[in-house]
Amino acid sequence: MKKTVRDIEVKGKKALVRCDFNVPMQDGKITDDIRITSALPTIKYLIENGARVILMSHMGRPKGEAKMEYTLKPVAERLAELLGQEVIFSSVPEVVNQQVIDTAASLKDGQVMLLENVRFRGEETKNEAGFAKELAQLGDLFVNDAFGTAHRAHCSTAGVADYLPAVSGFLIEKEVKFLGDALENPERPFVAIMGGAKVGDKIPVIENLLKKVDTLIIGGGMSYTFFKAMGLEIGTSILDEESIELAGELLKKAEAAGVNMILPTDVVCAKEFDNNSEKLTCERTEIPADRMGMDIGPKTIERIRGELSKAKTVVWNGPMGVFEMPNFAEGTKQVGAALAESDAATIIGGGDSAAAVEQFGYADKMTHISTGGGASLEFLEGKVLPGIAVLEEKE
Ligand code: AMP
Repeated sequence: MKKTVRDIEVKGKKALVRCDFNVPMQDGKITDDIRITSALPTIKYLIENGARVILMSHMGRPKGEAKMEYTLKPVAERLAELLGQEVIFSSVPEVVNQQVIDTAASLKDGQVMLLENVRFRGEETKNEAGFAKELAQLGDLFVNDAFGTAHRAHCSTAGVADYLPAVSGFLIEKEVKFLGDALENPERPFVAIMGGAKVGDKIPVIENLLKKVDTLIIGGGMSYTFFKAMGLEIGTSILDEESIELAGELLKKAEAAGVNMILPTDVVCAKEFDNNSEKLTCERTEIPADRMGMDIGPKTIERIRGELSKAKTVVWNGPMGVFEMPNFAEGTKQVGAALAESDAATIIGGGDSAAAVEQFGYADKMTHISTGGGASLEFLEGKVLPGIAVLEEKE
């Protein structure tokens, strides 16, 4: 177990806190502040317990240049509104200089400051020791609460921990608890649902999950690579040629491991990758040469619903079809509905599945929705995330 802010004395200490304030922006305005509100429990705890709070984050990909469209100033303003107190914004493009050091040193207990976008410095993403040291000198301790970037070894996510005691905030604590418990200590039956298009990215995840789950459900664009591996014709469906062999090996591994592997048996096809393209529901063995699979079919939905009604733990990553198009969203919607009705622990990987449960209004029915797409995938893959590895263990 990793230490959290609860496990150390924070009163009077300068807490250097890495948040994920990489919020979507349009015309200089924040369009969704969930990443800021998700960070509030840790920030409020630190304020209430007398810490001097120095926040840092990245936004977008300024690639080491101080591009002002990526300034964190709007985040400082929104955060001040949410906290109901001043947030000192340090508008220094080089992120750390003497002025920033002085401001940090003059903070009083409970005061909050936010540094400028750490990716204005090219050293950040290279995890160069010099910049990590510059950041570390601002604080007495490091708090990592940015799960979304925990799979990256950058100065502000990992490097600073070489110079400061390092603990997690509540957001990372929650992610590690839910994802970790599901993987290590699941109530069974444990069902994983994998979907989406990029099968290559998800093969290592499937491989790891095969060692843990009772049932593995595969849907979405990646199914067609598995169908191909099974010798089926898939028309013009999305195919990852390079992964066909690996997909075939995974099918064999699932069998050897005694995992109940469920692939779609029927699919909804279309001629064009277009919401208005005529729909055709067919068996997976009968996909016409000029059509592509866009969603799972009704028989498959029923079968998945049946499996999910028995499950006690479910991890879901990736949509069952092209859910962005309403005519091909049914499979994804029905899986979301089944999870919303279920009394299992339901854990949603970040990215598209998180977006889907939000879109269909099921978000508040889930046990946990991960805040990190890439990070949650790497976690499910069984990888050690650098931003978590650097945190101190509880004795
Ligand atoms: P990923 O980033 O790998 O999780 O893939 C998510 C994307 O997969 C979404 O944008 C979906 O529209 C897409 N997707 C899901 N099913 C299909 C399919 N049958 N054909 C093409 N794209 C799909």
